[in-house]
Amino acid sequence: MTADSLVIGGMAAFSTVDYPQHLAATLFLQGCPWRCHYCHNPHLIPLQPGDETITWQQARRHLKSRQGLLEAVVFSGGEPTIQKALLPALQQTRELGFRNGLHTGAPHLKLLEPLLPWLDWVGLDIKALPSDYEIITTNRHAGPESWAAIEALQKAGVDFECRMTWHGALQLPEQVITVGVRLADQGVRRFAVQIARTDQMLNDFIGAGYLSAEDKQRVQNTLTPFFETLNIRD
Ligand code: SF4
Repeated sequence: MTADSLVIGGMAAFSTVDYPQHLAATLFLQGCPWRCHYCHNPHLIPLQPGDETITWQQARRHLKSRQGLLEAVVFSGGEPTIQKALLPALQQTRELGFRNGLHTGAPHLKLLEPLLPWLDWVGLDIKALPSDYEIITTNRHAGPESWAAIEALQKAGVDFECRMTWHGALQLPEQVITVGVRLADQGVRRFAVQIARTDQMLNDFIGAGYLSAEDKQRVQNTLTPFFETLNIRD
């Protein structure tokens, strides 16, 4: 498998938000095994190329032309770890002198583990408590492997943040707090709660939900003492 097989659904040529404190280019890889109700990028779920597909060689040319300007490449999705071509792509971006970032929900630990030596930072999506993953992802078996990724990242010494998307119709403030406390128990130091964007979702029937300013403040106040950084991102 070579990096040329990578199915890339789109690229953000310049991002200040996808990799902490570093300018990055972000590649959005096609394919995801889950079907989260609130998925904001449902066009990335199929593994097939879409309308904005670019080739690895096009992406690589862009990265080479930005050497010295961009500091990092972030592989996002979709769920990037399901593509076997990700490993050779990470090796190439490292050779080009970039830091490697990954956004993943870690659906399969055995797919994440070989990538760890090539990663500098990971944004790990934690959807819910392990027993509640089906409510979000519609996949009954999703939770335990995703949570096991925390220990794998810690053992490998890869810097990471856990992030959770919060949709008011799917999870109560107490559930978000419980997830945060459990993460802190496992030694997670950085946690971000992202409020779900509801203008475009895989399953619109769940509606926009409702989160009051008080709900968000309660989560912020309760969880702040547990983490080095705790952000609620609207
Ligand atoms: S939100 Fe869920 S379904 Fe959508 S890409 Fe992310 S993990 Fe996959």
